[in-house]
Amino acid sequence: MERLSTWTVASALEVLADLDRLGVTEVAFGGGEPLVFKGFFELVDRLVAETRLAVHLTTNGALLSDKALRRLRGKIGEVRVSLYDDNDWRGTLARLRRHGQRFGVNLLVTPDRLPGLRALLDELRDLGCRDVLLLPILGHPALALDPAGGRALAALLADGAGADLTIKLGVCWGEDLAHLPRLFASSDCGAGREFVEITSDRRVRACSFHADSLPFDDAEDVVALWAAARPELTAPAGCAGCPRSGAPRRSSPEPRAQVRVYSAFASNNSGSYTLLGAFETSERAAEITALLTRLAADMEAAGEGNPLRDLLAAAGIAAPENVGKSDDWPAGWASPPEAVHVDQQVWWYAPYTVTMPAVIGRWFYAMRGRVQVELDHAHHPLLAHLSLWSDLPWKDRQGVPLQPLIDALWLGPLAADGIHARVRRNDWAGIDVLWLDPSPEQMRAFVRTSTQLGLRCRLTLSELPGPKVDLDALW
Ligand code: SF4
Repeated sequence: MERLSTWTVASALEVLADLDRLGVTEVAFGGGEPLVFKGFFELVDRLVAETRLAVHLTTNGALLSDKALRRLRGKIGEVRVSLYDDNDWRGTLARLRRHGQRFGVNLLVTPDRLPGLRALLDELRDLGCRDVLLLPILGHPALALDPAGGRALAALLADGAGADLTIKLGVCWGEDLAHLPRLFASSDCGAGREFVEITSDRRVRACSFHADSLPFDDAEDVVALWAAARPELTAPAGCAGCPRSGAPRRSSPEPRAQVRVYSAFASNNSGSYTLLGAFETSERAAEITALLTRLAADMEAAGEGNPLRDLLAAAGIAAPENVGKSDDWPAGWASPPEAVHVDQQVWWYAPYTVTMPAVIGRWFYAMRGRVQVELDHAHHPLLAHLSLWSDLPWKDRQGVPLQPLIDALWLGPLAADGIHARVRRNDWAGIDVLWLDPSPEQMRAFVRTSTQLGLRCRLTLSELPGPKVDLDALW
């Protein structure tokens, strides 16, 4: 215990019974170690008999013997076991399971723990655990996950680590791990509003990390403080890493609970233009990309001439004098279109234009390619779906470990835009990536990395039906 408790069974029961009458619904005993409190079992007995409070317990398990579990049977809603390297948590879990007690495990995620986390979750599952709460380290920046660690944890979970368990994320992650799906849009922990902590020296504070606490005499004081001392109780905890502090986050790429993308359009009502084509080989697609890149530059520089018409003519396509002029090309009034080489494909994209000449699609066919997607005048963000696979025969592909490749994508081209991306294995020994509105430059960086990793790549593009999307719901 951190400090000597001033509570007795009688005084604790009096306050808790009054809190029950005032509308509190649950009490959770936590650390220090509640089982060292003299009279703990009697207190639990009386709470169960005399109040409507649900009673829970967080423990290191050292004193949670068979005898203790028999004594507590049917009285504790949930036992949470704090897993440390030096407590016999395996023995504790075995006892809990034997006694049929509902339990879960609390696990601090440190950089040292990450490499073995998947195996640890598997072991917890094998020991009968069905519920693991992952907690960040607060107050010790050196032990906390850095941004790369946060992304690695998110990637690990997204890749199915602990998939057989209920994995919960502690409220103190805040907007960290925003890559992962969430039940609630709010990222505030709720400390001081949805729960308060009552300390061993008869004070109330927002959470166990809070340095500041307020003295009270009885249950009515507690409720009065809860109602009146909102500024104190909803303040940051004052320790390193508390998300309420607003300090730079440890591991979130961008602090958002949901993805919203807004596009503003000028009065000429312009949108984006996409033409996605596939060619016989990656080399051929690279040649087409180079031709289109030169065309974009030439169209910017063109005076009286018409480089597009010349390009079409060279492929045997006759086009009118004014092809690519006026509203058909954003020359001089918006960013020029860009071509991006994606393996055997070419993505031709103008972020802001009225339209582009349809005859460029004809040119794709003339260059022995085909048009896969045309999105003319898209007002909403684009959704890119990339399928990646190792450039190996099918039977050899099965043995390729995908996790290092997924990590490399998270740590590389997706690092700065992780909130807008989702990555997972697919059923074909490959990797799927969903990416909201990548820019041509981001797409080039992605393709560079995936090529270096020995991955082939296929892109599909679509326009979202609106400005807001729940990427997780799309999987
Ligand atoms: S106030 Fe900070 S440290 Fe306390 S529970 Fe909330 S997020 Fe965690």
